[in-house]
This record gives sequence, C-alpha cells and structure tokens, in this order.
Amino acid sequence: MLKFISFASGSSGNCYLLYTDNDGLLIDAGVGIRSLKKAMRDYHIHMQQVKHVIITHDHADHVKSVGSLSRELDVPVYTTREVHDGIFKNYCVTKKIEARNAHCIEKGKTINIGEFKITPFNVPHDSTDCVGYLVECQGVAFCIVTDVGVVTDEIKPFINKANYLVIEANHDEEMLKNGPYPDYLKSRILGTRGHLSNRQCGESLVENATPGLRHVWLCHLSEENNHPELARKTVEAILRNSGIVAGKDFMLEILKRKTPTGIFELK
Ligand SMILES: [Zn+2]
Ligand SMILES: [Zn+2]
Repeated sequence: MLKFISFASGSSGNCYLLYTDNDGLLIDAGVGIRSLKKAMRDYHIHMQQVKHVIITHDHADHVKSVGSLSRELDVPVYTTREVHDGIFKNYCVTKKIEARNAHCIEKGKTINIGEFKITPFNVPHDSTDCVGYLVECQGVAFCIVTDVGVVTDEIKPFINKANYLVIEANHDEEMLKNGPYPDYLKSRILGTRGHLSNRQCGESLVENATPGLRHVWLCHLSEENNHPELARKTVEAILRNSGIVAGKDFMLEILKRKTPTGIFELK
C-alpha cells in the first residue's frame, strides 16, 4: 500500500514522504533533520524508509537539510542540473550533497527510481529552476505542484493524470494586497514566477480535475497572507460554482504549515 505524509508545508519548511512497505521517496528536505526524525518517530516510520530524495527547487524552505540528510542516510538526491547548482550555491545548505549522491533528471523524461515512476515537469517560479512531479506507484498517480506562479498549459496534463494532488494555495489576494509586505515582495508573489493564490488554485482545479481525482491537499499556505479556513472556503466556493463538491467529488484537505498532517493511504 502506498502512503503519504506531509511533515511541514509552507515558507518555514516543506517536506513530504511517499512510501510503501519496502521503499520510500522524500519530496523536498526543507525541515531540520532533528524535527524530521522526531516526526517520523511519532508516526512509527523508520528513517531507513527514506531511500531516495527528489527536490522541486533550490529555495531554502525546500532544501535546507538536503545535504545533511543525504549524507546521514547515504541516499541519492534527484533534481535538475540547475536546481543542483542552486543547492550547491545556497548558503543555507551548510552540508553539501556528496557528488556520488547528486543525480540529475530532466523535465519531461520519466525515470524509474525503486518502486516509483517519476516524471518531473517545468513549473514557473523565481528559483534557479523549479519542477513539479508526477509520481506513479502501485497503480496510483500522485502529483505535486508547489511554488508555482501560474498553472501553465505544460502543467495541466499532469494534474489531469493525478488521483492524488498536492497543489499550492499560497495566499488570499486581498490579504496580500492590503497586508504588511513591501510592494516589491507583493509583486513578486503575485507575479507569474511567484506563488499561486487561493483563487488561482481553485480555478485550476475546476479546469483540470478529472473524475479520477480522489484527494487534493492544499499546500504552502502563507502565514501572513492566508488562513487555512479562508483557503478552504475560497477553493470550495470556486469549485461549487462549477458544480464540483469538495468532500464528495474528491476530498479536500489543508496541509499544516509546521506540523505533520496524518498518514494517508493512497489506493
Ligand atoms: Zn517554498
Ligand atoms: Zn520557492
């Protein structure tokens, strides 16, 4: 059985795990190694479950412990060449990934890593490079689209394929516009290489959800410019306007910013 757990999701750290009885794929390593170990202990998951790591992009909230984690567990880290370069240059990543564990993958090219069939795809964001992933395992398709300025035509086919989807609902546009952030930061977040708003998230679900979609998790919520309930209500309202009922057509859940969000069985 394929299982999913989110350890943290937001600007203070992102880290997710997909695992089976014999294999495990960590997606992003943006939480401290000690808190990751504690969370895994709390959920009775062994650190040895982590057999491979894939990285979306080189912002600190996604990579800060990737080097130490890869070294401690001696596990390979897969991402694009550009993201690897970005990780290497990122001063927040104090321990670097050993060369033999740094593996490059290419957007649009599917590779098999252990039990997982993985396809990275391009995502517009203001990092060195950024990818989303379609992960297929045990007949289930899991897709993650985070830190995305806009859902491009390139991304849509991957959402179409998803049975399980993690998608960004970063901010409420009004909260951001009227909030305390300086103007340059507001335009950065609102831009096409920034972050997805609740509205954009809802609209992309309306446009791209298929009957095969079973569960959606909203991720990377802003602490300053969003609230979990506001994100949920906004997305649910947009879905409802198009005749889609969250909780019936597919489950809709919000990932917590700093703590794990349960274990989900993906079947
Ligand atoms: Zn981020
Ligand atoms: Zn980012």
